[in-house]
Amino acid sequence: MSTHLMNTYARLPVTFEKGRGAILQDTDGKTYLDALSGIAVCSLGHSHPAISDAICLQSKTLMHTSNLYQIPNQIELANKLIALSEMERVFFCNSGAEANETALKIAKKYGNQQGITQPTVIVMENSFHGRTMATLSATGNPKVHEGFTPLVEGFIRVPFDDIEAVKTLSDNSNIVAILVEPIQGEGGVHIPQAGYLTALRQICDANNWLLMLDEIQTGMGRTGEWFAFQHENIVPDVLTLAKALGNGMPIGACLTKDSASNVLVPGNHGTTFGGNPLACAAGLAVINVLEANHYIPSVASKGDALLKQFKAAFAEQKGVLDVRGKGYMFGIQLDRPCGELVATALEQGLLINVTRGDTVRLLPTFVMNTEQTDELITKLVNIINQFLK
Ligand SMILES: *Cc1c(COP(=O)(O)O)cnc(C)c1O
Repeated sequence: MSTHLMNTYARLPVTFEKGRGAILQDTDGKTYLDALSGIAVCSLGHSHPAISDAICLQSKTLMHTSNLYQIPNQIELANKLIALSEMERVFFCNSGAEANETALKIAKKYGNQQGITQPTVIVMENSFHGRTMATLSATGNPKVHEGFTPLVEGFIRVPFDDIEAVKTLSDNSNIVAILVEPIQGEGGVHIPQAGYLTALRQICDANNWLLMLDEIQTGMGRTGEWFAFQHENIVPDVLTLAKALGNGMPIGACLTKDSASNVLVPGNHGTTFGGNPLACAAGLAVINVLEANHYIPSVASKGDALLKQFKAAFAEQKGVLDVRGKGYMFGIQLDRPCGELVATALEQGLLINVTRGDTVRLLPTFVMNTEQTDELITKLVNIINQFLK
C-alpha cells in the first residue's frame, strides 16, 4: 500500500482489477456483487461496452479544446438534459462539489443583483453537498465542518422535511435560495413526506427565492425517474448533477431555468476541463443507454419489489428499525452502529456501504439480473441477521 497518498481515506484491504456489469473482480480473482456502484456512479454497471466505445472513439478523435471554443458534444448533451429536465441552461464541470459551487455562486449573485448585502441560502440539517469550502459549509454534518473554520458564511440551517421551519424564515429579507437534496443520501437515505418539494416550490415562488435541488446522488434515474423532483409536479430553478452522469467519467452539471439562467455572464465563472468533448461523449452515451433500454421505469418497478422483499425479510427483526428506499436507493437502519458490516459483506463477496454509523446503504447498478438480485437479498439478510444475533 502506498504511503505517498494523502491520508484522506481509510481504505478497505481490497484491490479491484476489473469489472463487468454488476460484478467486480479483485487481484486474487475473487468476484464481488457490487451493490454500491462506486457510490451511485456506475449505474449502468462496470465497463459498459457502449460507454467504453464512446470514450474510446472520442479519445481518438478529440479530447479537449477548452471552453474558449465551440464544443458540439457539450451542446448536444445540454440539449438532452434540458429536454429531460425542463430546465433551460447548463454549465458543465467535473464533480458534484463544483456543480454545487456553481449553484451557490448563482444564489449569491442573484441576491447581490437585488441589492441584498448578505445573501443567505437555507440548507438542511443532516445534508451533504461536497467537500470544497462552500459546499462543506452548506453540508449539515458537524464532522465535515470540524477543523475547517472559518466556514463560508451565508447559510441558515433548518431540519430536513420540515416545511414549517422554512416558513418561519419568510420574513428574513437576506434569504435568496433553498438548497436541498430530494432524498438525503449520505445522511442515511432519508425520504421526505410526499409533497415536500411542492411545498418548498410554493414558498420559493411566494418569496422570490431560488429552489436549488442537489440531485447529484438522486439524478439520472436512481430513484425511478430521470430526476427525483419528477415524482412531484414541480421544476426547480437550479439543479445539480454529477455522479451517474458519466458512469465513471468525471462530469458534473449545474442546470438553471428562468431568472437563475441570466445571473452568470462571461467572466463570472469558468472551468478548464468542464464539459470537454471526452466527458460529454460519456454523458451522451449514458443517456442513450438509459433511454434505449428503458432502464428507468424498470428501476422504479424493480426498486419497489426489492424494497417490499427487504421489508418482509426484516419485518420480525427487532434490531432493524427502518427499511426505506425509492428506486434503487435503499437504507436499512439498525438499532446500533454497524460499520463492521461493510467488511463482513466484502468477505462474502458483496459490496455495500454504511452511512451515518447505523444505516446500511445500497445503491445497486441498474443492470443487476434476477439471480444477482436474489443473491443480494439472501446475502444481505443473512449478514444483518447474523450481526444482530
Ligand atoms: C456525492 C455528493 C456530492 C459531492 O460530489 P463530489 O463529486 O464528490 O464532489 C454532493 N451532493 C450530494 C447529494 C452527493 O451525493
